[in-house]
Amino acid sequence: MWLEANESTTPWRVSVNQLKTWHKCQRRFELHHLRQLQWPSDPSNFAYGQAVHTLMDYQSRDLDCAPLLAVASMQVQQAWQWLLADDTCHWPVIASEWGFTVPAPEHSLLKNAVLVGRMDRISRSPDGVVALIDWKTGTAVPKDPVNDWQTRVYLYALAEARSHLGLNETPLDAIKFRYVAVKNGIRHTDVPYSEAFHDETRERLIEALVAMATATCYPLPETCPDRYCGYRKVCGIENTEGLEASQGLASERTHTNASVSSQPRAE
Ligand code: SF4
Repeated sequence: MWLEANESTTPWRVSVNQLKTWHKCQRRFELHHLRQLQWPSDPSNFAYGQAVHTLMDYQSRDLDCAPLLAVASMQVQQAWQWLLADDTCHWPVIASEWGFTVPAPEHSLLKNAVLVGRMDRISRSPDGVVALIDWKTGTAVPKDPVNDWQTRVYLYALAEARSHLGLNETPLDAIKFRYVAVKNGIRHTDVPYSEAFHDETRERLIEALVAMATATCYPLPETCPDRYCGYRKVCGIENTEGLEASQGLASERTHTNASVSSQPRAE
């Protein structure tokens, strides 16, 4: 149980990644986030995304991007051209690469829990709406952005931290999330916010975090949701799949025998 292991005053830092993993595969959540069995990752996988994010951060601060662009790959230079041609990156910037640590919703079991993350940019759009912007360079925009944990946690955190950004007077329906997909050009996906959305996210967070905090076992899902997962050899799913496969084969054989025996005999 997470609560027993963390009775100290150390905050429980909950990331979007933890929430997504919890819902995808609880065994993976246990291995990765609780037992900290983490695999080394290849930095080259993140080079493109990091370069684009750094350039956008420089651009938001009116810093000279030329030295970075001079050594950037063609892919990064192309992304930069697409982004500059998009009006989103020219909206007045409220904050860039804004790291947040926001208390989790109020609940007796979540006193130590905080939501953590980093927002790429917060800007004011021409219609006065505060836009939380996320440049999507590597991973795709979520298929269901309204129900995606990144959309919900980031908007919730922004709403809760408005006073730290000088946005006390901003109502929740004057906030939106904008995903900016950088692939073969630019594509926007906007998710508007509201009081009702905020309340719903609070309830969902409480439900998920209490379940995570009080869990005593971390079962495997019925089927593995990620065939590239690095825990495949240690999580036990291969045994389950092997068992299912052999059971499937056995039932197939029984079915075949039954079919054969039920065929009318040739006289
Ligand atoms: S291999 Fe699949 S079932 Fe096993 S931990 Fe990873 S995601 Fe979960």
